[in-house]
Amino acid sequence: LVNRAFHPEDSIVNVSGVKVGGNSLAMIAGPCSVESFEQVLEIAESVKASGANMLRGGAFKPRTSPYSFQGLGLEGLDILCAVKKETGLPIVTELMSPDYLDVFNEKVDLIQIGARNMQNFDLLKQLGQLDRPILLKRGLNATYEEWVMSAEYIMASGNENVILCERGVRTFESYTRNTLDLQSIPVVRKLTHLPIIVDPSHAGGKWWLVESMAKASIAAGADGLMIEVHNNPECALCDGAQSLKPDKYGSMIQEITQIAKVI
Ligand code: PEP
Ligand code: MN
Repeated sequence: LVNRAFHPEDSIVNVSGVKVGGNSLAMIAGPCSVESFEQVLEIAESVKASGANMLRGGAFKPRTSPYSFQGLGLEGLDILCAVKKETGLPIVTELMSPDYLDVFNEKVDLIQIGARNMQNFDLLKQLGQLDRPILLKRGLNATYEEWVMSAEYIMASGNENVILCERGVRTFESYTRNTLDLQSIPVVRKLTHLPIIVDPSHAGGKWWLVESMAKASIAAGADGLMIEVHNNPECALCDGAQSLKPDKYGSMIQEITQIAKVI
């Protein structure tokens, strides 16, 4: 079902009215984690003014240490919904447990499956039963075949609205958090008809790497970007080092729009 050979034209996924794929770019921005209503609202209003068309924010966080901030859970989800009401931006947030399938299906515009759950096959099968589009991030060390087959799981279970997200893979390099695999963009576009977006924030792990990698991703044919933006990165509860300040996000989007025009 994912195979380009049986579906030559690009698929366009509609996320609550925002088209992803074809000529439309998904510009997803927001904090790593939902911290408070005021925080998310301030960030959402500024990224929207800069041209973002979807809001991200983690309510359930997959953290390496059990002692790190785990997210606000359902309270965080309610904050996202309240900010959506204020701004009109569709919301993107990560689902980790099948326990919350119904509430996500009801409230979340684009359900994110994180790198660590890319091969949680039972969860993937259950996503096939939902009506909501799915953002499937590439696993920490997943091959293209493995990643694309995970999309196939969701589609084979009945949900064909899948967007892929490259977020960097583990390599021998430890200076950066991960290594952004720009080649995945043309490869995925060759193998599949699905939209592919890029998350340069989790790829590099450093805010000053985000702009150049975001531009390169669009130049390489990505259908959008997911970028972490925080109004006070030094005090962020998660991933402050890779978060852009709102004004930086704004200037970057201006240049990216120029690049997108010539692609
Ligand atoms: C995220 O986008 O919040 C996240 C945890 O990313 P990843 O699953 O790619 O590590
Ligand atoms: Mn993060």
